[in-house]
Amino acid sequence: MHRRKLIQSMAALAALPLAAPFARAAGQLVSVVIPPLRKPADAWRKLLSPMAYAVLFEEATERAFTSPLLNEHREGTFVCAACLLPLFDARTKFESGTGWPSFTRCIPGHCGFKVDHRLAFETRTEYHCVRCGGHQGHVFDDGPPPLGKRWCNNGVALQFVPHGQPLPAWRI
Ligand SMILES: [Zn+2]
Repeated sequence: MHRRKLIQSMAALAALPLAAPFARAAGQLVSVVIPPLRKPADAWRKLLSPMAYAVLFEEATERAFTSPLLNEHREGTFVCAACLLPLFDARTKFESGTGWPSFTRCIPGHCGFKVDHRLAFETRTEYHCVRCGGHQGHVFDDGPPPLGKRWCNNGVALQFVPHGQPLPAWRI
C-alpha cells in the first residue's frame, strides 16, 4: 500500500467510534475490537427472562425444538439477547435438525471461546458473546461445507432483527 494511503487508512480507523461493530475504512470492511461490558449478575437478572438468564449466565441449555427462532428464515441479524451485540448474519443459518438454531459462522470477532469439560464423554468448545460474556452455545465440526462448522445456539440467548429494521443500540 502507498505510504500516504496507509496513513489515511490509519487515520480513518482511529476516527471510528469504539462501539461500532463494523466500520468501513479505506473501502474495506474491518472489524473493530469490542470493549467488554461488565455488568453485575443482578443487573442481568432484572433485564432477562429467567430462562435467558440461566442460559446466558449459568450456561444452562434450553430444551431442543422449543425456540421460535428455529422457524425464523428471514434475512436479518441475530443479536445477543443480553447486550444486543450482533452475533450471526441470518444468511449463515441452516437447518441442522438438532432442534437448536444453527449457524455456519459467528460474525468474526464477536464470539469468544473456551473448552467445556462438563460432559464426561466429550470435550466441547463453548462460545459466548465476546462483549458481555453471555453463553450462547457450542461449536462442532459437523457443519456443512465449506466451513464445516455447526454453531449450535440456544435460541433464548438470541434476538432476531429482520433486514430493514435498525439494529438496536448495544445495551450498556
Ligand atoms: Zn452479549
